[in-house]
Amino acid sequence: MKHINKVLIANRGEIAVRIMRTCREMGIETVAVYSEADRTAYHVRMADEAYYLGPPAASESYLQQDRIIDIAKRAGAQAIHPGYGFLAENPAFAEKVNAAGMIFIGPPPEAMRIMGDKTAARDTMKKAGVPIVPGSPAPLSDVREAVQVARSIGFPVLLKAAAGGGGKGMRVVSSAEEMESAFRAASSEAQSAFGDGRVYIEKYLQGPRHIEFQVFADEHGNVVHLCERECSIQRRHQKIIEESPSPLMTPELRAQMGEAAVKAAQACGYVNAGTIEFLVDQDRHFYFLEMNTRLQVEHPVTEMVVGMDLVRLQLHVAMGQPLPFTQDDVRLQGHAIECRVYAEDPRNNFLPSIGKVEFLQNPDGPGVRVDSGVTSGDEISLYYDPMIAKLIVHGENRLQAIERMLRALEEYRVFGVKTTIPFCTWVMRNDRFRSGDFDTHFVPNEFLPRLDELSSDLTEDEKIAAAAAMAFFQENGQAAPVSQAVQAANHRPASAWRLRGWKQLQRL
Ligand code: ADP
Repeated sequence: MKHINKVLIANRGEIAVRIMRTCREMGIETVAVYSEADRTAYHVRMADEAYYLGPPAASESYLQQDRIIDIAKRAGAQAIHPGYGFLAENPAFAEKVNAAGMIFIGPPPEAMRIMGDKTAARDTMKKAGVPIVPGSPAPLSDVREAVQVARSIGFPVLLKAAAGGGGKGMRVVSSAEEMESAFRAASSEAQSAFGDGRVYIEKYLQGPRHIEFQVFADEHGNVVHLCERECSIQRRHQKIIEESPSPLMTPELRAQMGEAAVKAAQACGYVNAGTIEFLVDQDRHFYFLEMNTRLQVEHPVTEMVVGMDLVRLQLHVAMGQPLPFTQDDVRLQGHAIECRVYAEDPRNNFLPSIGKVEFLQNPDGPGVRVDSGVTSGDEISLYYDPMIAKLIVHGENRLQAIERMLRALEEYRVFGVKTTIPFCTWVMRNDRFRSGDFDTHFVPNEFLPRLDELSSDLTEDEKIAAAAAMAFFQENGQAAPVSQAVQAANHRPASAWRLRGWKQLQRL
């Protein structure tokens, strides 16, 4: 058995904080790394030790492999947890960590390598008998071949980057005439994002659902799945609201998809936490989309319905222990939903809203969990993902979870930047969403045409209240009036009594 009593977390924000929380519960010491922009960040304050990496740009800080490994060695950490993003799916980094005599908390580099190349992954899945979306078997050599493949499977098709991720290098192509410019655009976008311009084609499925399975494997040959997450609510092909179980799921479909997910993990020699993503068409046929070889942003919805701590499991597996349960022990309880709170403007195509989070108050109470990487006064910068936090709720059933999410969203207070909170509220109230009958085109088809229904972040009264609170905080640095101000801002609509209170406060 390998021993871990100190872990370096090669990440920032909410995921670094989330990993540290489990480490602390397990009596494992934590080492944070940070960039110039993150000197006082939450994850730095949370860690037992923290080390400076470099300037704000990720390429000069969180992607500095050798520096990170050096720091881990100096700090006496036995393992490195990469979180998600940055170095999480970089097999060369995992190899370096291992070569330095430390444990990479994630899958073997070889599994990452296979699954990191989407065409290699599709090929592996096909051989393992897992259904894949129809498309080209290998990257395309030129536009002519692209048109040929597209004609053979039928338009519309989707051009995708072989090294893809984050929706980059993806283009829908509806006809042969559009292919040339789309091919150029997709491949140059892929080149600049991944340093790899190879693209391939998939049939563009009409109105599919994105349903993924959480898998877990240990070093002793045990592989299980922890059921599904429904991730069809997306903007720019990227998830924003997730839930488990999926409203579409039946016990039979779950058994079939779960079996395929386990097969997929076995086919690449997987160990630790991973996710098999599927697209499901209107006839409930499912197709392998890709595997994410890391802990996902949306892992908490699974944690809430299966009652497990996935980071704890990751650490157990990394120490060489067998999974402490079998497939038959996995039971779903209730319903969980996650809303990602991004500093983005839903009125303006979800453009990042950069700036200082002047004030932040998280919701609380029964069945509510907030995984946050930001506190009041922190800056949302252009350097990193503009996520503020993840709000996760658990209810006895889907309807209760939706009502609970609405209540929690209403309690949320974020001043200073625009957020996705009004969007999430709109979705929770939307009949289509509530019925469970929606697909990955929900945002363009349902939301964008009804932008005017979006409630404003704050009422005018609340803006006054917020402004007064900030003025007090800045001028007096006193806690008491601020807490009063915030309390007043928490009630809507603001009553005449409260407004008078505000005016008095402002005069003070
Ligand atoms: P990335 O790795 O860049 O995030 P994915 O392959 O995971 O890309 O796809 C992201 C999203 O794009 C999916 O959840 C889905 O909404 C859409 N998508 C991807 N492939 C297809 C396809 N063949 N047909 C329809 N939609 C697709």
